[in-house]
Amino acid sequence: MKTFSQINPYQNTIRKTVHCSGVGLHSGKQINMTLNPAEANTGIRFVRSDLDGKNYIPAFMNRVVDTTMATTISEDNVSIATTEHLLAAINGLSIDNILIDVDGPEVPIMDGSSSPFVDLLLEAGSKQQKSYRRLVKITKEISFRDGDRDISIYPYDGFKVTAEINFDHNSIKRQVYSVSVSEQKFIKEISKARTFGFLEDVEKLQQNGLALGASLGNAVGMDENGVLNKEGLRYSNEFVRHKIVDIIGDMTLLGCPILGHIVAYKSGHSQHLSLMEKIAATPESWEFVELKKNGQLSVLNKFVSRTKAAGNRLLPILSPVGSKIPVTAR
Ligand SMILES: [Zn+2]
Repeated sequence: MKTFSQINPYQNTIRKTVHCSGVGLHSGKQINMTLNPAEANTGIRFVRSDLDGKNYIPAFMNRVVDTTMATTISEDNVSIATTEHLLAAINGLSIDNILIDVDGPEVPIMDGSSSPFVDLLLEAGSKQQKSYRRLVKITKEISFRDGDRDISIYPYDGFKVTAEINFDHNSIKRQVYSVSVSEQKFIKEISKARTFGFLEDVEKLQQNGLALGASLGNAVGMDENGVLNKEGLRYSNEFVRHKIVDIIGDMTLLGCPILGHIVAYKSGHSQHLSLMEKIAATPESWEFVELKKNGQLSVLNKFVSRTKAAGNRLLPILSPVGSKIPVTAR
């Protein structure tokens, strides 16, 4: 019998409200963020507390408006940028329902990894809710190719990510990493990997008024000779592990947990979005499932529902209360 012991069958929120603040990668300004508990079936949504009026931004793939440097989502012309490292922590720690209050246009970059958000979520604690989670179980391969970039998802009894990157740079070159994601593995093997950038690119961006908050305190910086950070790398293959942070963060925008194995080659935010759109457009290759506890054992081994659903039914799942019904994915 199949086991899904690493996956909680129930939805979770956080136990208490927690705060953090840090610099915005692009604006360079100080930004305050508050994470609040949310009711079951609310999903993940952002609120821009610096703006008047109701401005909920649901964390869904059809709200993505920019993937060039980071993943930006928007609703009614109100946007929030650099969502992926926070969303990775929320996903990695199996939080389904949360309200994220931010008083600026981007999530603070913190140290460039997912780790400060993990610490914040651990401080908040998790609270199991009565509703079952609905998961997307991949039943057939779904692939997206974009030039020499490639991302696929395969059937798998759990959530696994394999990433490969290939940079023509002595400090990076070819790196491959694979992880079957559990909360502990996410925290230990993935969450601490920082984003990275090349000095010449950062200088160009800053001349154009972008990446004003970028520093060696929130990224691994490199020039042609190697890594510029005095403290060195946190993992010998920190670069590919950070790619997995980005994949887990972006895939959160599917709106529910995934049972599947993602295999990504040289992927970026744009390809992650394209894979989600292809999943939504290919309902014959996945099904909605719930997991159930087996008696007194904390082993999950039985599907209680197998609902074949049209791709556009993916989006309203866990749709935030009070938000508009999301439109079908592009
Ligand atoms: Zn990243």
